[in-house]
Amino acid sequence: MKKVVVLAKVWVGVFLLSQLVYAELSTEQLDLVQKTLQESRSPKVFKKGYLVKFKDADRPYSVNEVLKKTGTPISMSPLSMDMMIKDLRSNPDVEYIEPNYYIEKLFPRQDYFKLIKDVDGLSQALSKARETDYSKEPRIKIAGKIPSELEIGDSFILNASRSYTLDDSEMTYRWVVSSSTEPASRTVSQTPVLSYKPKQRGTHRFTLTVSNDSFPDSGDMGGLKDLLKLIGGLQQRIYSEISFNVHVSEFETRIVADSEDPAIIYAQLGDVVQLNASLSRPHPKFVKRGILDHLWSIPDFGFFNLAAPYSQFRKFESTPYLPYVEFVPDALGGYVVMDQIRDEFGASQTAQVVVDVTKNENYKKLAYDANLSDELRESLYQHKIIKTFEAWKAADGMKKSQVVVAVIDTGVNFNHPDLNSNIWTNEKEAQGKTGVDDDSNGYVDDIHGWDFVHNDNSPFDDGHHGTHVAGIIGAVLENGGVVGVAPNVKIMPVKGLYGYGSGELLHLIDGIYYAADNGAHIINASWGGRMEELAESKALKEAILYAQNKGVLFVAASGNETLNNDQLPMMPASYDCDAIISVAATTASDDLAMFSNSGAQSVDVAAPGETIISTISWNPAEVSYESMSGTSMATPIVAGVAAFIKSLKPEITYKELKDIVLNSGDELRSLAGVTLTGRRVNLLKAVEALKQKMPHVQPKVEEKKPEVSASLVVM
Ligand code: CA
Repeated sequence: MKKVVVLAKVWVGVFLLSQLVYAELSTEQLDLVQKTLQESRSPKVFKKGYLVKFKDADRPYSVNEVLKKTGTPISMSPLSMDMMIKDLRSNPDVEYIEPNYYIEKLFPRQDYFKLIKDVDGLSQALSKARETDYSKEPRIKIAGKIPSELEIGDSFILNASRSYTLDDSEMTYRWVVSSSTEPASRTVSQTPVLSYKPKQRGTHRFTLTVSNDSFPDSGDMGGLKDLLKLIGGLQQRIYSEISFNVHVSEFETRIVADSEDPAIIYAQLGDVVQLNASLSRPHPKFVKRGILDHLWSIPDFGFFNLAAPYSQFRKFESTPYLPYVEFVPDALGGYVVMDQIRDEFGASQTAQVVVDVTKNENYKKLAYDANLSDELRESLYQHKIIKTFEAWKAADGMKKSQVVVAVIDTGVNFNHPDLNSNIWTNEKEAQGKTGVDDDSNGYVDDIHGWDFVHNDNSPFDDGHHGTHVAGIIGAVLENGGVVGVAPNVKIMPVKGLYGYGSGELLHLIDGIYYAADNGAHIINASWGGRMEELAESKALKEAILYAQNKGVLFVAASGNETLNNDQLPMMPASYDCDAIISVAATTASDDLAMFSNSGAQSVDVAAPGETIISTISWNPAEVSYESMSGTSMATPIVAGVAAFIKSLKPEITYKELKDIVLNSGDELRSLAGVTLTGRRVNLLKAVEALKQKMPHVQPKVEEKKPEVSASLVVM
């Protein structure tokens, strides 16, 4: 089975649309809209625990690991954790302590898409605003007492009909409610009067919006409202808003699986997941019969939901109203299972649990009956631009050594038939004993890399990003499907990111040390974070320097925010390390991609990164491909170029390699002054540049058949 999802056409439409919208805005407004888009696209960084580096240690460890090593019990209150950190700070053996950052949205494609859509709405709102004279904002006056605490059965009435506006225009009213158990807001009244009797327990949030014109208000206004607020106070002149919370006493809800009570339940494909909410208890004040009804569901959050998007399972077949359900997950992802629990008053409350289907022992053994066609090859425009096949031909007959590229990412779908034979193997472990750390590298049975998120030997991709990146670098040549820039290299899967695209610094740092210690020549880092604290992270920088000292080249994405990294550095791409190449993205017409970051000092080189088709992983039972855009996609093209060159001259240093990759490409007008080199990589020119440095090498036919041959490809 083959599934091809081509988003290219959609993207082109979106870009045109956004340009149209921008033409409607003044320069100041445009700046503000751009800024908002950038901020919402920027990775967000939070603290999650701490990293401790002892002076005699080779690298930092998490505080939990330190506690484990010293035999201290780990279940600590936040207070005792604070004291522990204080102690460590004053410990003379400690070199430094820094937060373990959790970086959200390392490749925020979906949000980008969504906000562009909002800009379309913004254009309409602006046109409407121009035709209307808004002189005064409405003033809200509410009669009636706003309750703070309620019980089920209580009701209240509020009246806002004495609200007024000074310009005598017609007023419209909208009462909206959301609650802690039903977060999606819904309109409950479009008159000045709200009469409400809560059926849901939990905290209810009421918002009244009073407009002096029929402002195009809808439930999907979040981002648009913010943009309007930014571009010149339109919002204040259009409507006023008031919000308050009402608390309705709750009962206890609880979903358990296997008599444990975690927020996340881990399962594998093929498992029968049994969920049990029978430990939920009615509110003590309202127990008559003590019976609760249960309504189980897996809500569909729409196209942009990351939760198991390829799953067909959306409905429970089990008897309704019972506190038990079971289901068999049919695709990878996080299944958000909800149980709407009702008491005898009809008052309801929702409990939820995430069933995380990411650990797939079954799929380690999965064999595909894949018969891939060549049709996708035509759409791989990046190879035409960087002259991949001509480069292979130019290197025909040259000896090719094995080069290992570590993909530190969401993991890799190592069963994908377009990747499987190019996955790195740790031979000592492959031929060693199960359950034994045969190569004494600290990781048991790490035959094909390591998963630092779940701390096990199965770095399977429970997202899609890492698999996409891996295919761009090294998808298999001979079997149809897509093909990578350097299909003669080995991909080392290192899972350092959660499947949904966020990551913890510690897992990424662990991944860098692992890659450097286990033979990676090149690291691909299609991720990054932006924050002053991160810029000063000794731990991350030291890890990259550690890899650099082992001769590893570190290729990093410059980011997708249309920002100048010279002013706002992106980590790790902007670190001042010799081994780092920071990559911008170009389009099929060799323009800088609209989303790509740039930087005359801090962004080195560019590669195609818009609508690149490659392998994905969503449903490991299917052989799938998808088109994606981002500097995340440009980065592996550069890593692939570097890997191919390295395979021709394995003794080349990372500095020489970087020099060739950076300075052999095509100079583009679109990149002049916005990147250090002004160049987009070109594999053919890189091969020629390498040959000039190796005048003694004459192409000769090896006894062994070359692994890569351009003649196999018909383009
Ligand atoms: Ca090992």
